[in-house]
Amino acid sequence: MVLSKEIQDFIHENALERFLRYIQIDTTSSEETGTHPSTPEQLELGKLLKEELIDLGLENVTHDEFGYVYADLPASQGYEKTPSIGFLAHLDTSPAASGKNVSYQIHKNYDGSVITFPKDDKLSLSIEDSPELQDMIGLDIITAAGDTLLGADDKSGIAEIMAAVAAWTKYPELKHGPILVCFTPDEEIGEGTLKIDMDRLKQLKCGYTLDGGEIGELESECFDAWKAEFEFMGLSVHPGYAKNKMINAIDVTSRFFSQIPEYETPEHTENREGFYHLYDLSGGAEKAKAMMIIRDFEEKGNISRMDYLKSLKNVFENRYKGLQINIEFTHSYENMIKFLDSFPEVLKKAEEAIIAAGLQVKRTAIRGGTDGARLSAKGLPTPNIFAGGMLFHSRKEYIPTKALQKASEVILLIAKNWINEI
Ligand SMILES: [Zn+2]
Repeated sequence: MVLSKEIQDFIHENALERFLRYIQIDTTSSEETGTHPSTPEQLELGKLLKEELIDLGLENVTHDEFGYVYADLPASQGYEKTPSIGFLAHLDTSPAASGKNVSYQIHKNYDGSVITFPKDDKLSLSIEDSPELQDMIGLDIITAAGDTLLGADDKSGIAEIMAAVAAWTKYPELKHGPILVCFTPDEEIGEGTLKIDMDRLKQLKCGYTLDGGEIGELESECFDAWKAEFEFMGLSVHPGYAKNKMINAIDVTSRFFSQIPEYETPEHTENREGFYHLYDLSGGAEKAKAMMIIRDFEEKGNISRMDYLKSLKNVFENRYKGLQINIEFTHSYENMIKFLDSFPEVLKKAEEAIIAAGLQVKRTAIRGGTDGARLSAKGLPTPNIFAGGMLFHSRKEYIPTKALQKASEVILLIAKNWINEI
């Protein structure tokens, strides 16, 4: 089934209008506050979405104290026995770039030239920065103004789901089973499912996050992710009288981390390669602390990285008598492929929907994680679908308006594919 021109135009306009509104609410999450949600602004967008979902006639619409929004769209008449499916997107934007006072520009009928930004004349966006722009010549491209990120990650996902809901309620010929809509806070700080109400999700056969990049993307793999926290305990002595006594913790720390292979760092790896990423280091002669993330698609790759760190610890403790190194490893999330493998129909229906929307399926592995990875580990298979935004977390972030429409079409078509189950 191809969606009619009228429906395509409706969701294009509807998703675009919503997207441009949602990005103007600052929802930057924060690793610093320790609250849930991490920033109160996320509640503002959640509240607006709750009202809009009620206006669209959805049932059991809730916006809880942690910032999660849930809403049920009952099945079309006669399709009540269709498996329930969920569509999810996250409310927050990355703290990596400002999300305050976002203003946007629409580059109509993009001609392939260099895009400039009114609020930063040193910033530019070209096909060199993002080769995918080459395929977007002729489309309308949205960027921010140069001083903020755009917020397509993941307000495009929210707008696409909302536009699909609007289409379901406006066009009864779009048949669907029971649908759950869920918007989550704090995905960007790794807490998107921390306070999620699994009770609300338990009737679902599967979920789909709308949080991927390029048009056509379908992701069933993500990193296997670990965090390592280091503590180096040395011994501080007056520097004038320190010979054979002092163990300078911060000095030893820098030597320790110089043993990490440089070719296994984020700036030197791509595709399926894993890495070590040291991202915080502080301390002095007495004590030093460091934070690292470790990533790979195969758990055994990460285990061998952790073994290497443990043997480095032994080498250093032997070399500097009295030095004590503590390393604490935490498993942040697992590669979701091992959970999705048992539910091939979940991916198949998404793949067929992408093709039915006239697109080419791009199966990629996420060099990161998603809410879906954690949900899949909790027993709810949840692959990730493109939301259309590119150059996430940066002031060069952009999205073609066509992506908003196409992702929304894919949502409608996935729901349609599931009704064939009964
Ligand atoms: Zn995202």
